[in-house]
Amino acid sequence: MISSIRMALTAAFSVALLAGAPAHAACESPADLNGDGVVNGSDLAGILAQWNNNSGPADLNGDGAVNGIDLAALLALWGDTGGACGSFPEHWIDGTNCGGDPAIQIHQFNDDTFILRQSLCTNFEAPFIYLLFGEDKVLMEDTGAGGIAIANAVYDVIDQWLIDNDKETIDLIVGHSHAHGDHVAGDSQFNGQPNTTVVGLSTSAVSSFFGITSWPTQIVEYDLGDRIVDVIPIPGHQAAHIAIHDRATGLLLTGDSIYPGRLYISSFSQYFTSMQRLQTFVVSNPIEWIVGTHVEMSNVPGQQFQLGSTQHPNEHPLELAPAILDELVSGLEAMQNNPHIEVHDEFVIYPF
Ligand SMILES: [Zn+2]
Repeated sequence: MISSIRMALTAAFSVALLAGAPAHAACESPADLNGDGVVNGSDLAGILAQWNNNSGPADLNGDGAVNGIDLAALLALWGDTGGACGSFPEHWIDGTNCGGDPAIQIHQFNDDTFILRQSLCTNFEAPFIYLLFGEDKVLMEDTGAGGIAIANAVYDVIDQWLIDNDKETIDLIVGHSHAHGDHVAGDSQFNGQPNTTVVGLSTSAVSSFFGITSWPTQIVEYDLGDRIVDVIPIPGHQAAHIAIHDRATGLLLTGDSIYPGRLYISSFSQYFTSMQRLQTFVVSNPIEWIVGTHVEMSNVPGQQFQLGSTQHPNEHPLELAPAILDELVSGLEAMQNNPHIEVHDEFVIYPF
């Protein structure tokens, strides 16, 4: 009996490994058949109810039969609650209600992850800002385009998180997707604040802070305390540009390098190489969503809001499926001898 269970487990495990690439973050455990957030007795009952069926959700390894292998796979995942994923808002502030909307929309993606959007009413760039809480540090990506009390908003979020998590303090690390003005304008509000470190803007400052010794080819881990992010140099839009992969949520923060809008490329060859490197990373790591720092496309494929427009009715969602990177790299490859502006459904390649 024990050996047959072990064989079944081994078989299930190898199947799971085979099915692993390209991986998705486990927002919901595959064995959570009724979607109640945990693998438990009700899912076991679900497997037994479908025993000997040819397919269906209880056929966890997809071999066309609900059998002992699926049972073993479910037992191996007993108690699994899936990854710490989260959700995006129904609606981001889009500049169409300046009297009613806040200057900064604060969206709680999950318990430990916040996405902020600066209002289009305050600056047409309307950048997105990210806060990732670990046990010891909270990593902030970008400080906005200026003209907003970003530090007040962020320290309020931190204070509430500390209360919710029964903690006294946490260190705030203010980093940046890249050094352009619409992502760093709020830095001065954080300089000299307690428990706060503002990362410098140059390539060498970014490298030395995260411990990158071989820019831009080296990918390094940065630990926030029980929450590791991967820092990936991706110069091309701007020299000190990085992507951040959050293992806890499967979010890949791509700054101005990939988002639903105009992908401005200052060095085509650097950008092309960076996007190829990112594509390689995405194939071998569990990415749920690519999220950048602007939205400039409407939800009509190929339709952009004009540069400088302060209203974005019917915006494209912030998040992009990871496969977008394949479309981008193919597009770059096809034009590498003749870089030019090219409109795709969800982004615009924009060498300049
Ligand atoms: Zn920007």
